[in-house]
Amino acid sequence: MSDEPIKLAEGMMAALRQSGRIENHVCEFRGCGKRAPFGFAKPRQPSLWFCFEHREHGDMDLAG
Ligand SMILES: [Zn+2]
Repeated sequence: MSDEPIKLAEGMMAALRQSGRIENHVCEFRGCGKRAPFGFAKPRQPSLWFCFEHREHGDMDLAG
């Protein structure tokens, strides 16, 4: 799964610089709790993080 591209929005890049790390995020999907390397961000909202399995939920959230 490590060869999948990571989607980085501009807002997420800012959040990433602030936190300084990407590996400690946990998937937002209810009941998942896996490590979440895929970050999604909308303007003026907190970043959302999803694991490989649930990253499509982040895509849908950004689209909506
Ligand atoms: Zn997940």
